[in-house]
Amino acid sequence: DEILNLRPTWLEIDLKAIQENAKKVMNHAGAKRLIAVVKANAYGHGVHAVAQALLDIGVTDFAVATVGEGVTLREQFPQENVTITLLGVQDVKQTPIMVAYQLAPAVATIAWLEEAMTQIKQGQQLPVQLAVDTGMGRMGAHSASSVKSLYDMIQSSEQLVLSGVFTHFATADDNNVAYYKKQVKNFYHWVEAANIPETYWHLANSGSAIWHHNEIDTNTIRVGSVLYGYNPGTPELTMPFKLSPVLSLKSKIGSVHCLETGESVSYGATYTAEKPQWVATLPIGYADGYLRRMSGMKVLVDGHIEHVIGRVTMDQIVITLDKMYPVGTVVTLIGQDGDQQITVEDVANYANSIPHEILTTLGLRLPRQY
Ligand code: PLP
Repeated sequence: DEILNLRPTWLEIDLKAIQENAKKVMNHAGAKRLIAVVKANAYGHGVHAVAQALLDIGVTDFAVATVGEGVTLREQFPQENVTITLLGVQDVKQTPIMVAYQLAPAVATIAWLEEAMTQIKQGQQLPVQLAVDTGMGRMGAHSASSVKSLYDMIQSSEQLVLSGVFTHFATADDNNVAYYKKQVKNFYHWVEAANIPETYWHLANSGSAIWHHNEIDTNTIRVGSVLYGYNPGTPELTMPFKLSPVLSLKSKIGSVHCLETGESVSYGATYTAEKPQWVATLPIGYADGYLRRMSGMKVLVDGHIEHVIGRVTMDQIVITLDKMYPVGTVVTLIGQDGDQQITVEDVANYANSIPHEILTTLGLRLPRQY
């Protein structure tokens, strides 16, 4: 981090806000247990610090996407009461590692389980999460009979331990209520037909926990985005409660100059000054996750709005200024400056993306300050 700090462009991450958001969403959804989704480096926020902050408020269940992420987290938390779920499809050849680190993969087929069992030594056990595909179309048992045969197989095996049974919603954070309801119906039909007790269930992602908590079992929720303080349904849906903002992206002016009328900025010379114009260059670019599409976006300087002009380049951008500012002046690209605020949602909407993508593409060159 010391080497990263040599460039004055950084992320500020408020771990208290993450803790507050965890409590807020649990209260709102009436949840007793939270599986914190901390994959992709905790949505870009830094998994080590985020997981520790959540553990500090009693969260002991985490979900990541890959075996590598699981191993890293297990090295941080060797204690037995910490569970680590792997949400994605895993290569069954990694079974010995998953056993050694007690990582619970999402499982979807009998064939996968049979092959995994050949790799589990006598006296060892693999925790598993039974995935039910109720409409996401990615992975999971896709009928009442396949849910039942997977469940029965897990329950009758000495090598397998059921950690949970879950499904993932495709439309929890948009207006497609009919599709959501169909997924809920599938889950209840299939899982109840297989007699899987509710204590194993975890259905709700952030969208469900926020907008659909009355329609499903929310004793255990499995959420990412709300923890990081943003509305996963932006811009379609509005939040029923206020989240604490977590992340700021800041940089410092690296150089200042005045464009003459008719002079242009950056590749393609897409911006041309129509009058003499003070501008500043900042050391941040698309290699840091400040997307090329952000050309024209607002930024905050000294509590007021300025704009990115010309094309975003790999490592640098140019912004307008109302007057000359000294080198070293702080510029806020995401976050609050005086009365003005730029949210992750603003950036995502401007880039025609979603906050998840904006956050997970924030580059590793950016030091995370907590
Ligand atoms: N569950 C699964 C299976 C996921 O893939 C994800 C994220 O992609 C989540 C839960 C968390 O979703 P969200 O960040 O919307 O809460």
